[in-house]
Amino acid sequence: MSTDRAAARYSAVAIAGARRPRRFERLTGTDGAPMRSSEYFGARTFNFDLMERVLPPADVATLRAHATNKEPIARAIADKVADAVKEWALAQGASHYCHWFQPQTGSTAEKHDAFFSFDHAGGAIEKFGGSQLVQSEPDASSFPSGGMRATFEARGYTAWDASSPMFLMAAENGLTLCIPSVFCSYSGQALDEKTPLLRSQSAVSDAAVASLKLLGYDAKHVVATAGPEQEYFLVDEALHDLRPDLLLAGRTLFGRTPARHQQLEDHYFGSIKPRALNFMMECDHELYLLGVPVKTRHNEVAPSQHEFAPIFETANVATDHNQLMMEVIRSVARRHHFVALFHEKPYAGINGSGKHVNWSLADASGHNLLEPGDKPHDNVRFLFFLTAAVKAVHDYGALLRMAIATPGNDFRLGANEAPPAIISVFLGETLHEVLERLDQGATGAPATRANSINLDLAKVAVIHKDNTDRNRTSPFAFTGNKFEFRAVGASASISLPLAMVNAAMAAALREMNERLLKASGGARPSDEQVLDLVAHVVRETKKIRFEGDNYAAAWHKEAEARGLPNLRTTPDALKVLKDPAMQAVLAKLGIMSADEATARYNVRLERFNKTRLIELETLLELLSTQVLPAAFLHQTQVAQAVVALKGAGVPPVKTQEDAVQAVAALTGSLVAARAKLAAFIERAGSVHDEEAQGALLAGDGMQLMNDVRGLCNEAEAVVDDALWGLPKYREILYLL
Ligand code: ADP
Ligand code: MG
Repeated sequence: MSTDRAAARYSAVAIAGARRPRRFERLTGTDGAPMRSSEYFGARTFNFDLMERVLPPADVATLRAHATNKEPIARAIADKVADAVKEWALAQGASHYCHWFQPQTGSTAEKHDAFFSFDHAGGAIEKFGGSQLVQSEPDASSFPSGGMRATFEARGYTAWDASSPMFLMAAENGLTLCIPSVFCSYSGQALDEKTPLLRSQSAVSDAAVASLKLLGYDAKHVVATAGPEQEYFLVDEALHDLRPDLLLAGRTLFGRTPARHQQLEDHYFGSIKPRALNFMMECDHELYLLGVPVKTRHNEVAPSQHEFAPIFETANVATDHNQLMMEVIRSVARRHHFVALFHEKPYAGINGSGKHVNWSLADASGHNLLEPGDKPHDNVRFLFFLTAAVKAVHDYGALLRMAIATPGNDFRLGANEAPPAIISVFLGETLHEVLERLDQGATGAPATRANSINLDLAKVAVIHKDNTDRNRTSPFAFTGNKFEFRAVGASASISLPLAMVNAAMAAALREMNERLLKASGGARPSDEQVLDLVAHVVRETKKIRFEGDNYAAAWHKEAEARGLPNLRTTPDALKVLKDPAMQAVLAKLGIMSADEATARYNVRLERFNKTRLIELETLLELLSTQVLPAAFLHQTQVAQAVVALKGAGVPPVKTQEDAVQAVAALTGSLVAARAKLAAFIERAGSVHDEEAQGALLAGDGMQLMNDVRGLCNEAEAVVDDALWGLPKYREILYLL
């Protein structure tokens, strides 16, 4: 016996197996040779080089100043930019423009308007002025606001973010000018992901500039820099489209881990299969056109899991570029008959996907403040900023934990391949030792690596960058000259994580600045005074530093003993947004008002609840319409075989009768599970208090989903393959 469902699966397997890599047209120069990446990098962006050519130098200088330290842009300049960008976009063949913004949905939004218009005499023209560039009014009522915007006041507006370059988004049949924008309510409250990030960039700049001045450096402004490494899975679209759970929930709700998965450790950095490689090449090409400086492409740990990493940029530009990277990956994947999955845990038992966000601070001349220097005094500065970062995580770890809380990341944090939900900092052996010695009041050279550290020299440290230490299990690890926030989920915008790192850093720096001023009596502190403060802060923040294996059960115990919170679920982690003390910190830094924080809590909690309900309902449907029918057919098949024996006058062997019993028991459990699932969905859906609903879904809901997953996997293990319609893990993961 075989079913149409199984036939569809077999044919999808055949289609996926027969696919060949796709070719795309590379840009060529006038001589017909392929262009170098550097020649067409940013060709679809209205970047500073281009502006230099079409705008007055003084205006470009203003725009540059705006991009780094938010110098305001006069309306007259906006008019000139609008005119120049319109001419450029039209010359490239664009007919429409849009404000491109990031509502709190995790992805981007755009509403297109044509340049086309009528002049006073009714003649057809192309029109685009400063007012259209600077502001637009999308109908905001359909975007999440968390109660920020009463329904009768549906208006919101998007405003040009001139710190991020405008770009042309290509579709098969044309180009659209995208204007990176922020999205606010009419009273100026942030409705998007980006506004808090931009505010946090200012906050951390102000605090760091004040620190640098105290340390005797001339500083105009400081920017946070970010380089997000993006992990994702590829799956053939024919197989993907046969899995309603992948379609609707972005993850498989069940599926047996195949006998071979990642235990042979042969995928990470392994040779990239041709279809995937050719897909990556087209992504690179597209991303370079869009000015996204993508640098690295490789296989990740799990089969069919990959990663792209860019060269770091200013945090807000890196955030836009990460969104663009995800969009490009998504759309180019379809051209190659793949679907790209950004879900943090698409497959149980297989590594999930994260987004390691590398973060640092740089001064106006691009000098990395987390880079150990050669000059002793520079190392005082280095230790000051490094310690501030440790203090930031120590004091505001709850904000960092909140920022990475998403429904998908709940499966990953604390599983055995991702940093746990316990936030700690890893510094590496050398620095750990330096700080330990400072803590003990000793400044002499430490026992190990004596050649790399000299604390005897006028009581200051000479530290050489140490890139060799690696701790892949730490949620927040120092990697030589930057921190790597490793616990961020693959599907999430990096805006909030970066905003919270900046916020924490700004608050820590402010406090350290104050203490320094107090110690020095308002004068410029000496190196000794700075190191003394550093030593104190090192002592106060000791419990947040952890150099060991974050995956080990022993750490969970120790963390508890140290009093470090372990907020396992999104609803728990989000609560910090309603904590008055943390609200006050964010408000004081000008990053988020208390109302905005509460609204964000509402939006994120609601998204969590809706996501879980969608998963539960999809699971119920799959159980009812796929798993049970296949299990019943299989039961019939086995039972009929026994009946046939009896009919032929042959008494069935006992084990054959047992087999019928076993299948009947399994289908019985599946029927019972269906009833339980349906009842739970009904119950959870009728809880109107979001917080209570969140707790129910994160607790009993997750447990139930897990139980049902186990039963469905049991069915998959025994049901005749010719009756099974849902593509199996081995097919999804190995047929690229
Ligand atoms: P590592 O091997 O230490 O992970 P890589 O050079 O591979 O370092 O960089 C990983 C990511 O970190 C890249 O995206 C890179 O651009 C980014 N990165 C490097 N330096 C910085 C910095 N100062 N600030 C932010 N990100 C950075
Ligand atoms: Mg990685």
